Amino acid sequence: MKYYSLNTKNHTVSFREAVINGLAPDSGLYFPETITPLPSSFFDTIETLDKEEVAFHAIRQFIGDEIPETELKKIIMETISFDFPIIPIEETVFALELYHGPTMAFKDVGARFMSRCLGYFNRANEQKNTVLVATSGDTGGAVANGFLDVKNIEVVILYPAGKVSHFQELQLTTLGGNIKAIEVNGSFDDCQAMVKKAFLDTNLKEKYLTSANSINIARWLPQMFYFFFAYRELKKHGKPIIVSCPSGNFGNICAGIMAKRLGLPIAHFVAATNANDTVPRFMESGNYAPKPTIATLSNAMDVSDPSNFIRIQELYNNDLKLFENDFSAFCFTDEETEIALQNIYNQLNYIAEPHGAIGYLGLKKGLKKHPGSIGVFLETAHPIKFSEIVTSALHIELPVPEQIQKILDKKKTSIKIDTYEELQNILLG
Ligand SMILES: *Cc1c(COP(=O)(O)O)cnc(C)c1O
Repeated sequence: MKYYSLNTKNHTVSFREAVINGLAPDSGLYFPETITPLPSSFFDTIETLDKEEVAFHAIRQFIGDEIPETELKKIIMETISFDFPIIPIEETVFALELYHGPTMAFKDVGARFMSRCLGYFNRANEQKNTVLVATSGDTGGAVANGFLDVKNIEVVILYPAGKVSHFQELQLTTLGGNIKAIEVNGSFDDCQAMVKKAFLDTNLKEKYLTSANSINIARWLPQMFYFFFAYRELKKHGKPIIVSCPSGNFGNICAGIMAKRLGLPIAHFVAATNANDTVPRFMESGNYAPKPTIATLSNAMDVSDPSNFIRIQELYNNDLKLFENDFSAFCFTDEETEIALQNIYNQLNYIAEPHGAIGYLGLKKGLKKHPGSIGVFLETAHPIKFSEIVTSALHIELPVPEQIQKILDKKKTSIKIDTYEELQNILLG
């Protein structure tokens, strides 16, 4: 499969190069040259297939022959080796829990898939890659865990000292092995600026730096699996299905729309955002006008210029009319989020967290516009990851799950730095 850059469309690369480069040399996002729908017989019998088979059929064409079938199946098996339960919440409302992976965030799937693809491409020891990533919280843990012990990969994670939660810091700093945690005396933006500088630094060329953020196709495309799993489970109701995604960088929902392009019968998508409402405003006015980012309770979605939105527009050929048929976007305040958390708990007996609560609110709006449908919202993180907010809204203590329990008494190891020169020295070894 070839990928083109959304900036310079005549520049194409292989899947391997797209994964290793992350971003095209012209700074464009990669996009697959062809998208071939799956046969209708696949959807007719999808409930008879196990989740590994479903995932394999969903992603196969995007990799082509660059990873052999048996190897790809092994990568998929390792990537999705945990549950993706669908929980009934109301008669027409379901939650798809994407947080049963090792770091309890939905980003586990993308990180695990990407790490194993890179590991495959580096299998012959021809090359060693250094994965360099800045994190404000969840991404770092998923990347650290996903890339742990993958051959010929060194991982360097930058995080702002004192600005990530206790659990998040433990997830980053206790693994050891090929994972280095760098504690930057500064903000997340300072971390990101250092990462950008490193990518442009000619002294680091032979370190083969690569990024593991969500624009990488190997992190983006496996997110399609969730939507196939949801359909496989909800098909038996025989009603049109609406999916609501709590959205920040719009990678997850874009993967859902890609799944629909493959023929997956999802009737409508809802993007639910917090006060960072660039896309809801775009749907109203046709004018894409990001504002400065606002800090909210659902901080993993504090993104005002979502990178993946351009991929969604490409999927619709920039035709707003066509797009509106399949897609709505709604935004919600912190106050609405908190009330939703309380209602979901008190009336429906389910513990959500801020991102999932926004997904729920978006779904309710979507169902109003499409009566006769059923809907599923994605619950993208375990409530324990946002325990302070959940505890104060619901006045309950959350039990600590096994994945978190395991790291509580491990020892933190990090390297503290103040300047870019210190990072450069670490990368040069
Ligand atoms: C990253 C993240 C999101 C947003 O996903 P996008 O693909 O960036 O839209 C939502 N919820 C949680 C908990 C996340 O970590």
